[in-house]
Amino acid sequence: MNESATSPTASRDFLREIVADDVEAGRTIDVITRFPPEPNGYLHIGHAKSITLNFGVAREFGGRCHLRFDDTNPETEDQHYVDAIVDAVRWLGYDWGEHLYFASDTFERMYECAEALIRDGKAYVDSASEEEIREARGTITEPGRPTPDRSRSADESLDLFRRMRAGEFPDGACVLRARIDLASRNMLMRDPVLYRIRHAHHYRTGNDWCIYPLYDYAHPLEDAFEDVTHSFCTLEFENNREIYDWVVENCPVHSRPRQYEFARLALDFTVMSKRKLLELVKGGHVSGWDDPRMPTIAGLRRRGVTPEAIRAFCDLIGVAKTNSRVDIGKLEYAIRDDLNTRAPRVMCVLDPLRVVITNWPAGRVEMFDAPFWPHDVPNEGARPVPFSGELLIERDDFSEHPPAGFHRLAPGREVRLRYAYIVRCDEVIKDAAGNVLELRCSLDADSKGGAAADGRTVKGTIHWVSAAHALPCTVRLYDRLFRVPDPDAASDTEGKDFTAFLNPESLVVRADARIEPAIADDAPGSRYQFERLGYFVSDREDSSPGNLVFNRTVSLRDTWAKRSGAVTEDFGRPQRSRPAPATTSSAPAAPPPRTSELVERFRRLMQTHGLAETDADLLTRDAATADLFEAAVGAGGPAQSIANWIIHELPRETAGRDVAALPFDGEALARLVALVDAGTINSSTGRDVLADLVRDGGDPQAIVERRGLAQISDDAKLIPIVDAVLAKHPDRVGAYRAGRTGLLGFFVGQVMNGTSGRANPERVKALLTARLDT
Ligand code: ATP
Ligand code: MG
Repeated sequence: MNESATSPTASRDFLREIVADDVEAGRTIDVITRFPPEPNGYLHIGHAKSITLNFGVAREFGGRCHLRFDDTNPETEDQHYVDAIVDAVRWLGYDWGEHLYFASDTFERMYECAEALIRDGKAYVDSASEEEIREARGTITEPGRPTPDRSRSADESLDLFRRMRAGEFPDGACVLRARIDLASRNMLMRDPVLYRIRHAHHYRTGNDWCIYPLYDYAHPLEDAFEDVTHSFCTLEFENNREIYDWVVENCPVHSRPRQYEFARLALDFTVMSKRKLLELVKGGHVSGWDDPRMPTIAGLRRRGVTPEAIRAFCDLIGVAKTNSRVDIGKLEYAIRDDLNTRAPRVMCVLDPLRVVITNWPAGRVEMFDAPFWPHDVPNEGARPVPFSGELLIERDDFSEHPPAGFHRLAPGREVRLRYAYIVRCDEVIKDAAGNVLELRCSLDADSKGGAAADGRTVKGTIHWVSAAHALPCTVRLYDRLFRVPDPDAASDTEGKDFTAFLNPESLVVRADARIEPAIADDAPGSRYQFERLGYFVSDREDSSPGNLVFNRTVSLRDTWAKRSGAVTEDFGRPQRSRPAPATTSSAPAAPPPRTSELVERFRRLMQTHGLAETDADLLTRDAATADLFEAAVGAGGPAQSIANWIIHELPRETAGRDVAALPFDGEALARLVALVDAGTINSSTGRDVLADLVRDGGDPQAIVERRGLAQISDDAKLIPIVDAVLAKHPDRVGAYRAGRTGLLGFFVGQVMNGTSGRANPERVKALLTARLDT
């Protein structure tokens, strides 16, 4: 067993409790699980939940997980799907070693088990029609009646069953049924069908078979043949558990697997059935199984989502015993959280408007060194960004008649160009029809870096590219596939096909976008944050150096809630589409109704502390969280920093624990945030200190001292480390001196690693450049 299975703070779901009990009681020696997809479609995010569960449990308990193709239906299965599934599970980060199985490889053994059941009088061939069998099965209030063949002798059934196999009968002529109990309260136990005749070609066994086993018979046998100990399936199969047990107990098999059920994943704004996904593909509603709007693993991958984000999402939603729909905001939250430290920041203009700088010397180009990462991300690196007299900005960052609160560019107004200068719009050039063609702006030469020399304030900052240097590109803005949260339910209530609820704006293409040149040579599949716009990935199929294509993975914030009108002040209703706090418990998707006291505090957080609505919402879902926030702010903590720490960092550490029971108070949190804000520790160290606080309480300053976490700003300590890094990489030092100054980020990263992230990055950069530039 590894740490996460034994650690007292890791929350264990009910299935892991069951496995742990079995292991501790000695009922299970080696834990064996399986992921059993049917190769009739691509895997989706619901399957990811099952994959992380099955492979996760096996890993945590030192057992193993099998990948098994449950391929007992010849009509819909295909090798192409097998390949796609293998690919997806591997991409998600799981490995089954040599334990790859196909149910179809065991058809002969399944057949032998069926003959044994017949000989034992536990199964019979029934020649009644499907209709007659259904009719004789009774209802919930009435017991079933025997069909005439129920009294068939074992010999006669055996003979007929062999002739079924030999292909003597057409499809539907007869079936093999278990002889169990026609009066059972469980309808599924009223002599279930085990085998049916299907003259069809199977993608692996070809025409070897014309009888195929049904799920209820095949699945328990597959588990037993492979010595699976814990067989996890979704809740719809709860009633099937009785047959499962009956099959395992009555067939000649040696092992005794057990089935346990958990809630299937249902995600808002999408559908999760393979049949419906296939319909979307076949109907041309999407470009294929890997269309970035599809909830398939292949689609998410092409959209730029990482396996880590999918696993983090599965962790976040946990495993529970009741079905509930999951807010898609939780998936988006996991994706943003993952990409934040993974995607370098660059500038891209989607809908360009030309800006001519009238007081810029003709032909002059200035290079700005722009960091790839914001301060709160522990990565380093920068790229040169060219600035010239002809720029492109986002068309909607200019407004000729700016509404109140518009802080971007407008006639006579100033705006800051990210990393560069402050410019003022002096003139608007239009065509005859009144369309804005170009802006003439003058630049404040004393505002390099973005601050005005005379201290005047300029509120807005916008992104831009240099017209002559920028690369043309196509940007695909993907959005939710459906326009309603629950397309299946909408389809039922309104009596329309589910495709009637597709979101017509799920794909908007910007074919005339421009991106800064630094990314020119990046490999397809590279991920970025386009500043102010969202996270993007270059499309691994369609993008090439001369034809750049980017897919939007996710926007920076959840803008959907407002658009769909789902945000109301009525907290009694489920709030859709909010970023989720990272609980690992099996919390239901929607927050509970809020008391009027909490509604009042929600307003206060916005009015008194100036928090955004989303933040205020997340902080007032329960009284303890709101108390913690207000106590920390009362102790002098800056409201927005405190809010960020509580919303984004705390849930990771508490792992679902009740905030009211934490061993530290708001004052301690305020002291921690002050240490980070003062630069005594950097934010990633701050997270370590928070983890200590959550576990043991205490004083943040004392924790920093005891664990020696203080940021190292002392040159005497840093210089030897800097020199060691440079000595270790002579080739890169040479390359840097030959002009590849972008390598500075590499060196900074090495020094940060050498100090477990504690070095002061600004000092490190200064020392490195001093050394490298001599
Ligand atoms: P679908 O309804 O999409 O066709 P399925 O259950 O028929 O799905 P399988 O290929 O049989 O698809 O599924 C393989 C495994 O994945 C099964 O163990 C099943 O329980 C699990 N699984 C399928 N869908 C979900 C889901 N939405 N949430 C959790 N687990 C799922
Ligand atoms: Mg299935």
